[in-house]
Parts: sequence; structure tokens; C-alpha cells
Amino acid sequence: MINKKLVVLLKYYKGELNPFDACTLECALTLGFKDITVLAMAPNSVLESLKSLTRLGVKAVLISDPVYAGSDTLVTSLILSEALKKLSPDIIFCGRQSVDGDTGFVPMMVAKRLNFNVYDRVMSIDNGSLLLRDGNTVNLLPNTLYTFERFKNLRFFSIFSKASSVTVLDNSILNIPIDNCGLKGSKTRVIKTYESTVGRRYCKFITVDELFDVIKKSLKKTTVNNTVQLTDKLNRVLYVGNIYSIANNIANNAIKLEVDNKSDEALKDEILSLNADAVIFEDTPTLKQLAPRLAVLTGSGICADVINFSVVNGALVLTRPALSGSITADIICTNKPAFATVRTPKKASADVILSVGKGAINSTDKVIDVAIKIGAEVCCSRIVADSGKLPYKYQVGLTGKTVFSSVYIALGISGAVQHTCAISSVGTVIAVNTDKNARIFDYADYGIVGDINLVLDKLKDLSLN
Ligand SMILES: Cc1cc2nc3c(=O)[nH]c(=O)nc-3n(C[C@H](O)[C@H](O)[C@H](O)COP(=O)(O)OP(=O)(O)OC[C@H]3O[C@@H](n4cnc5c(N)ncnc54)[C@H](O)[C@@H]3O)c2cc1C
Repeated sequence: MINKKLVVLLKYYKGELNPFDACTLECALTLGFKDITVLAMAPNSVLESLKSLTRLGVKAVLISDPVYAGSDTLVTSLILSEALKKLSPDIIFCGRQSVDGDTGFVPMMVAKRLNFNVYDRVMSIDNGSLLLRDGNTVNLLPNTLYTFERFKNLRFFSIFSKASSVTVLDNSILNIPIDNCGLKGSKTRVIKTYESTVGRRYCKFITVDELFDVIKKSLKKTTVNNTVQLTDKLNRVLYVGNIYSIANNIANNAIKLEVDNKSDEALKDEILSLNADAVIFEDTPTLKQLAPRLAVLTGSGICADVINFSVVNGALVLTRPALSGSITADIICTNKPAFATVRTPKKASADVILSVGKGAINSTDKVIDVAIKIGAEVCCSRIVADSGKLPYKYQVGLTGKTVFSSVYIALGISGAVQHTCAISSVGTVIAVNTDKNARIFDYADYGIVGDINLVLDKLKDLSLN
């Protein structure tokens, strides 16, 4: 039994418990914490579900008040941290992300507000040690927030177990000024949502025998930079990381903000003194943690995973995939500076990428052999990374990397929007799938309807020189 007070943050989406949070609670139970409280912020309709969780031997607290509706990440983190102050946990657990929001900002913001350390992305637990995505192993420490990937299902409660009551915290208890709550307090506004068609292409179906010609022709094609050059610009933008060209496109003055060896408080002072319209961050794992921390300190609206910027009537419009990538949203921040993390394509180490999907998972070793032989890079879909067949850093997609190469060969990948949103910068996409109606063909320049093994047997004789 672990004698520390643990709070597990839970999120509900459309009445369902976020699967990342379900895994987190299962880990808390498996680790043997003696004192677990689950804390959710949701409408009253989730009361029954929370009550049933108490049958697992945990206490349950619901934060619920109509004035909290419409809260963005900044406000949500404020409300959660006020509730957490009342519960005074030693340790906080939460899922790495929610299936709808998908920014991963709230845990970082909560930790900043409570002055907790963070260990991000636990991907397995073993005898009290936690293995992180970055390969490090850490222990359970007080004053620390841990985020969890999705790798376990939540157990069922025993039929002999008894439910206990759920404590409800509303704003008469949390006492947050109304103007700082809900939509009113939020510094971001969604101004438009629409169906995502980013990266849609016209597919020409070819035979395996035509493959070499297509690849060679594609390698000779000069890649076109399709970034729209903005004429209407902001005055001053600060950028962090390797994104000068993006900052320069949206502002007359693009100033690099050096962040190494500076405290969050020093960076806050520097940002506020520079009086910028926006601060934009490259989406590296470290900067994706820094950006929300600084947004808390400066009180700025923040948007994650921005794929496009535009300036309309002097206001910065941030475009990002939303609802698990199924739609695209245009967002504005109501105060300055606006904060954003930017999805930047990572240039592949080779001209050709061979990407392994579920349909090629049993041939992963064969794909690696062919890639070594022809000098290609290997990537994969999330199903393949989740299965452990290839490391997470190979994963392409909304929750993986965005790639940039001359040719991308999708082997047994169905083409879910969360995958195709990350291959739109590729020069030529070639899809191989046994199902001629697979969505991937709508996002490919060339398609082969057939078994991936036929293509791999052919590809091993390709000479890229
Ligand atoms: C919040 C969220 C974030 C996500 N992030 C990502 C992400 O970053 N990246 C990502 O990839 N996914 C992501 N996903 C998951 C995504 O929705 C899909 O589930 C996933 O991309 C499917 O992977 P797949 O195409 O390899 O597998 P499947 O969808 O199972 O497709 C396999 C395909 O292989 C074909 N096939 C089978 N056998 C063969 C064969 N022998 N030869 C040729 N073809 C064959 C089938 O016809 C099928 O089309 C995310 C989902 C959510 C909800």
C-alpha cells in the first residue's frame, strides 16, 4: 500500500470516461494507493458514472456549475487547481490527453498553478516504477503530477462492493470570480469549424510494374512550397524553436525568444516587456510543456497544434484540427500576446518513407529490411506504435509527427484523418491497400490495390541512385 494521497483527474466526453483517464485510474489501483480521490469537472449527468467508480474503493468529487460551461484549457486548469487546493493531494495522476480536446495542456497548466513537478507520458508500470515514453524510469514522488498513456483497461467492480456518495463542488464552494469562469473567462474563441480536407489528392491507380517509374518521376519533381504568403501582417511575433519562416510570414518583426537556462518567471517578464502580438512555439516535447506553463503566467489564450495562420482585420486566426482531427477549427485569442504551438513537418532522413500500417504489421521486419536495402526511412501508424512493433518516434499523425519527404509509401494504412493530416506536406503519396475503397486513396497521388507483400517483393530491387 502506498501511503500518499492521490488525486486522479477524470474527463468525460459525451458522457463517456476518457480512455486515457480510465487507464490512469487502473494504474492508480494497481500501484496500491491507499487514499485515492477521483476528481472530474463535468455536468451533473455524470454523477451516476462517478458513483459507480466509488465501488472500486475510491472517493469521488465532481466539480459542476453552469458558470463553468465553455471553459478553455486556461480556465479549466484554474478551476481544477482551485478544487485540488481543497483536496491537497501529495500526487496527481491524469491521462495524457482527452479524445476530444487533444491538446495535453491542462495537466501542464495545473502543475504550474500548484507548483508541482511533471513526469509526462507514463507508458507502463512495474513494481512502483513508472516507464516514460522518453525511455526514462521514474518513481512516485510527492508534489508531482504524472500523465499516462492508454495501455490498460479499467477493471470491473465486484458485485459485493458498495457505492458511496459523490461530493459536488460548485462555485459557491470554489469561489472563483464569475468573470474568470466558463466562456466569459476564456481567452480563446472558436469562430468557425469545418470538415477537414487538408491533404486531399487525386489518386491515379497503377500496377506494381509501374511503381519504379512513379517513384523515380516523383523524386525528380521539385517540391512546391504551398505556404500562402500573407500580406496583412501582425506587428511583432516572438518565436521559440526552429520556426523563423512561419513567424516571418505572419509578422513584420519576428523576434527569436531564447529559452534555454531561463526560469519560467524570467521568460514571463521578457515576453510581457516585448509587447508582442503573439508567441509561437515549435511543437517539440519540451516546448509543448513550456508553452502552457508560460500561458498560465501571462494569462494568455493558447491554441495547440496550429496548422495555419492568417491575419483577418488585424486579428490572428489560428487554424487547428479539432475533435480528434475530424474537423478543422479557426480560433482567435481575445487577449495579447496570443500563444500557439505550431505543427511543423519533420524532414525525413531519406527521400522515401515506407510507412507500416496495421495491414503490414506482420511484415514489419520485411519492411525494415527493404528500407535498409533501398535507403528509405521507416514510419508507422499509431496502431503499429501502440502495439510496440515500432517505437513511438516512428508514428506519423495527429499524436505523432508530421512528415516531409519526396515520397511516402503507405503500406496497409486505412487513411484515418488522424494519420492523413500529417502527410499533407509530402511530395508524392503512394498508397497500397487491399481495399479499393480505403480512405487513404483519397489522400494519395497513386494507388495500388493489392497485398503489401507484392509491393515489398518488388521494392527490394529498387535502386534509388
Ligand atoms: C485522438 C486520436 C489521435 C490519433 N492519432 C493518431 C496518429 O497520430 N497516427 C495514426 O496513425 N493514427 C492515430 N489515431 C488512430 C486512427 O484513428 C486510426 O485508428 C489509425 O490510424 C489506423 O491505423 P491503420 O491505418 O494502420 O490501421 P487500420 O485502420 O486497421 O487499417 C489497416 C488497413 O490495412 C489494409 N490491409 C489489411 N491487410 C492488408 C494487406 N495484406 N495488404 C494491404 N493492405 C492491407 C486494410 O484494408 C485497412 O485499410 C488517433 C486516433 C485518435 C482518436
